[in-house]
Amino acid sequence: MYETEPTAAVRGEPGSQAGAKPVRNFIDGEYRDSGRWFDKRSPLDNALIARVAEASREDVDAAVRAARAALAGPWGGLTIAQRVDLLYAVADGIERRFDDFLAAEVADTGKPVSLARHIDIPRGAANFKVFADVVKNVPAESFEMATPDGAGALNYAIRRPVGVVGVICPWNLPLLLMTWKVGPALACGNTVVVKPSEETPQTAALLGEVMNAAGVPRGVYNVVHGFGPGSAGEFVTTHPGVNAITFTGETRTGAAIMKAAADGARPVSLEMGGKNAAIVFADCDFDAAIEGTLRSCFSNAGQVCLGTERVYVERPIFERFVAALKEGAERLRPGRPEEAATGIGPLISHEHRNKVLSYYRKAVELGATVVTGGGVPDLPANLREGAWVQPTLWTGLGDDSPIAREEIFGPCALVMPFDSEAEVVGRANANAYGLATAIWTTNLSRAHRVAAAIEVGIAWVNSWFLRDLRTAFGGAKQSGIGREGGVHSLEFYTELKNICVKL
Ligand code: NAD
Repeated sequence: MYETEPTAAVRGEPGSQAGAKPVRNFIDGEYRDSGRWFDKRSPLDNALIARVAEASREDVDAAVRAARAALAGPWGGLTIAQRVDLLYAVADGIERRFDDFLAAEVADTGKPVSLARHIDIPRGAANFKVFADVVKNVPAESFEMATPDGAGALNYAIRRPVGVVGVICPWNLPLLLMTWKVGPALACGNTVVVKPSEETPQTAALLGEVMNAAGVPRGVYNVVHGFGPGSAGEFVTTHPGVNAITFTGETRTGAAIMKAAADGARPVSLEMGGKNAAIVFADCDFDAAIEGTLRSCFSNAGQVCLGTERVYVERPIFERFVAALKEGAERLRPGRPEEAATGIGPLISHEHRNKVLSYYRKAVELGATVVTGGGVPDLPANLREGAWVQPTLWTGLGDDSPIAREEIFGPCALVMPFDSEAEVVGRANANAYGLATAIWTTNLSRAHRVAAAIEVGIAWVNSWFLRDLRTAFGGAKQSGIGREGGVHSLEFYTELKNICVKL
């Protein structure tokens, strides 16, 4: 698929394409060129690594038509068992091409190979198997009913696909989050039009090859590349042939997509931003809390929706905890993804780095104490053009500062002391977002009490990012609408139909 150069270039410089691979749209089982191409640059060093075909409105239209035709044709005619077999073949196909997916994901994101090897790619494959198992095993309800004539009636439910699902994806865990939607959508018998992030087009494109090799009928899985407004994102979400839209990304974008989905009253599932609190009680297992908080603040360079950006620490251990966090943050060595010593990669882009650095500056202007970091790391010459920032910790600001309220989405956290359980629950909840929390305590009763009281979709106790894919996933408040995961995904990806039979 990557053998030829793009035929035309509108964005970027057509003359500077040496070494940049073309990444095409995948429509109706084929890779297709486009009249417009945009540049994809490496977050590591800003080198041009790919030229990406930007889907036009006509391309998106062709993708939706292909998806509708597959629904009405070969895909719609499969039994659940046949569909499940194909999804297992897709998962096996990802595993067979593990190294190709790994290379593509690491090239697009710059994240450490060790991270992508253990999280992104395996979960990409697992998402197909888990939801294949769900649809195979979940029963539907039935009710016997009395009627005045004494003969009775029988109600039973069946599930049907919602149709063509538009899947709009972010860049932070590209394959993982895309398949988290595509896995259940296909398992439930839908077809999809996927719009990957403009920052991370490669793994979604590569998955087309796996779909073809597995024998998934053409038109079931389509990929259209591009941006949001005025580009493929808008074309997908406003297309009347798209029956439902599932989205992961910023809350502001989710609100725009909700407005687009209002035309035609189409359902949305939204997984959005967060400003997650870790709550560390003085009775915690100190080392475990440090290890977990370092991961929740700095994994994937802080670009994890579930990550921590507010750390509340009970006052008796505050100073010691801050010192240990500082030491851990300073151990995270920036470096190339393939080097074993690399502890942290770059941010996704210069644009995102500008946003994160603007918060680094704002924290100082507001009077924060910079415990560590606060700027750009000193790097070898070959990495200096990349989108790097230092892992950063602050103290000295309160809950109403923008540093405590707004999602930064970088490797940074504000650490604040607290004095009582009631106080910290109130402070953690005084935020517009409600995605996740991590509670660190050895007091069992307190763990249950606080987990129940925090206004979030996911509360971890003495852990973070420990995910059983059968459980509900989603955000409270401005972090999301709806739940996906396990049987909960069926609520969005199927229409539950009740059939009432008078006996
Ligand atoms: P983003 O909202 O900028 O973009 C997400 C996707 O939406 C991209 O594909 C983009 O091109 C597209 N898009 C943008 N505007 C659009 C529009 N008007 N219409 C249609 N599509 C549009 O998000 P991002 O920067 O890619 O990702 C980071 C954000 O994602 C953070 O806020 C993070 O918290 C959130 N996130 C949430 C979860 C979760 O599960 N809750 C998971 C990962 C990331």
